[in-house]
Amino acid sequence: MSKRDYYEILGVARGANGDEIKKAYRKLAIQFHPDKNPGDKKAEEKFKELSEAYEVLSDDQKRRMYDQFGHAANAGAAGGPGGFGGFEGGFGGASMNDIFGDIFGDIFGAGAGGARGRAGGRRRGGKPGADLRTTVDITFEEAAFGAEKVITVPKTVRCEPCQGSGCKPGTSPVDCKQCGGRGEVTFQQGFFAISRPCPNCQGQGQTIPSPCTSCSGSGQAKKKSQIAIKIPAGVDTGQRLKLSGEGEAGERGGMPGDLYVVINILAHEFFTRDEFDIICEVPITFGQAALGAEVEVPSLRGKIKLKIPPGTQSHKVFRLKGKGLPRLGSYGEGDELVRVIVEIPTKLSHDQKELIQQLESSSAASSHPMHSSFFEKVRNLFG
Ligand SMILES: [Zn+2]
Ligand SMILES: [Zn+2]
Repeated sequence: MSKRDYYEILGVARGANGDEIKKAYRKLAIQFHPDKNPGDKKAEEKFKELSEAYEVLSDDQKRRMYDQFGHAANAGAAGGPGGFGGFEGGFGGASMNDIFGDIFGDIFGAGAGGARGRAGGRRRGGKPGADLRTTVDITFEEAAFGAEKVITVPKTVRCEPCQGSGCKPGTSPVDCKQCGGRGEVTFQQGFFAISRPCPNCQGQGQTIPSPCTSCSGSGQAKKKSQIAIKIPAGVDTGQRLKLSGEGEAGERGGMPGDLYVVINILAHEFFTRDEFDIICEVPITFGQAALGAEVEVPSLRGKIKLKIPPGTQSHKVFRLKGKGLPRLGSYGEGDELVRVIVEIPTKLSHDQKELIQQLESSSAASSHPMHSSFFEKVRNLFG
């Protein structure tokens, strides 16, 4: 089955900007979401197709690759259909290193007998950069509504004066004399010819005759990079955002690694969280619980009036529908659960004590059903 064009799937022009793509995706994703079309295989297929298209077109790097190479851009990376790892298993299984490596390897290696042929299967270019991991602290509200933040990440970046090449400006690398540019050396041991990376060029195939003075030939520099990140609404502690190509720079122009940003949500004064529901404990007075009341409780979007019916017990939970967090990757919002805690009066005056005495002695067993039935059972059991 041939794959449809990603732009066609989303119904946008090839020059569409990020917002247009996002809008088109949202609209269609809502229409074909499996929750809205239970048991409908066609809708499910459509939804997967949409997700895949959006995954590629919403990522500048992947989109560029797709524009240039079409579906081959991801078939090469992940080995055929299913490209980016399916829509449930999390996207982005293949790093840009794999994508670039495979595509350039195939195109330039197989076709022209270029890099691949010369280097005996060894890829030209520097070592790819390492992946980085950092943690970002966000508030409860930022997790609820999403946020844009700028984080500072100390990392290795490309050396500017030499553009990462490691060569003094105006000079370029030359083929290694020891291996003739192959990047490996072969020697005979008994019947066997053994190959190993060339020690002179560390398998690069090239050496730098006049190294850049700024980076001594590594092509790298240390820098505290400011990186803007977009935190989607509904994220939870421990979830990771992947920023392709924002990891350490590669050596001598090698591909950069990826940056993983781990979310940490700071404690909130009122709210705790259970997936997309938020939980808020609200102390009410003994009188409010007994007689009923209307209290104002905090929510993510301001105060909400909550009716407490007469005879409300401590720890009763009231559910405020849709007042929780947006369900990331799905629709709608969770709920807010308000757990009321009845506060028993502590410092009582003499008169107040008398009033409570009166209340106690005048109450019938039926006004405390839990209490009465419990102690009746105890009496029945122990006599
Ligand atoms: Zn060499
Ligand atoms: Zn340099």
